[in-house]
Amino acid sequence: MSRGPGFIIAIDGPSGAGKGTIARAVAHRLDYHHVDTGAMYRAVAWKALREGIDLSDEEATADVARRARIHVIDGAVSVDGEDIARAIRTPEIDAAAAAVARLPKVRSILIVQQREIGRDGGVVMEGRDIGTVVFPNADVKVYLDAAPGERARRRANDPAHAAGRTGAAVEDVATALEARDRSDRTRSTAPLMRAADAIEIDTTGVPVEEVIERVLALVNRK
Ligand code: C5P
Repeated sequence: MSRGPGFIIAIDGPSGAGKGTIARAVAHRLDYHHVDTGAMYRAVAWKALREGIDLSDEEATADVARRARIHVIDGAVSVDGEDIARAIRTPEIDAAAAAVARLPKVRSILIVQQREIGRDGGVVMEGRDIGTVVFPNADVKVYLDAAPGERARRRANDPAHAAGRTGAAVEDVATALEARDRSDRTRSTAPLMRAADAIEIDTTGVPVEEVIERVLALVNRK
């Protein structure tokens, strides 16, 4: 599955910072795999909701994570063979994924899978804890951030997140994003934070191509 030999490139940061766009493009340019770990939390949330599981029940939700056959690679997302790439980009799953991501037992199951996927390198892995927890020895660590208003605007205009949303106002998106960020930053297990050795890039007002070039420059320096 790997296109190794190659580096492990970790891209972390809050929602709407540009992780998806940048990780996808960098992977493409390097002929690496792109692994969106957020989609794995979303997949667990999607399956748990479908099974009517109470997301505050850690054991039951961890059991869902244990049973789920999750495949997340290069934009494809499936669980138990069912394509859920679109179904997981809804406001309901946004909130549900952040809830399941607070559960240490769910995290430890997914982290094992993430380490397995990235083991041989040749991956750009995006998430919240890749540089801090999943691959603390990643070859390149980037922490992307952007001003809250810009992150909300991007999210509100992102067609990939349009499913189930009817003309969401930027303010509604901003409120939901803020709640999710707070949850991600304050949870006790693997909270969102910049790894001490990650390079921070503030993408506010910076053209996508420029951010891609900055990340590629970090890779080339290795
Ligand atoms: O990146 P995305 O918005 O799709 O992630 C959905 C949720 O999954 C996040 O709000 C966060 O709670 C969780 N997540 C995480 N750790 C990761 C990736 C995502 O906790 N590595």
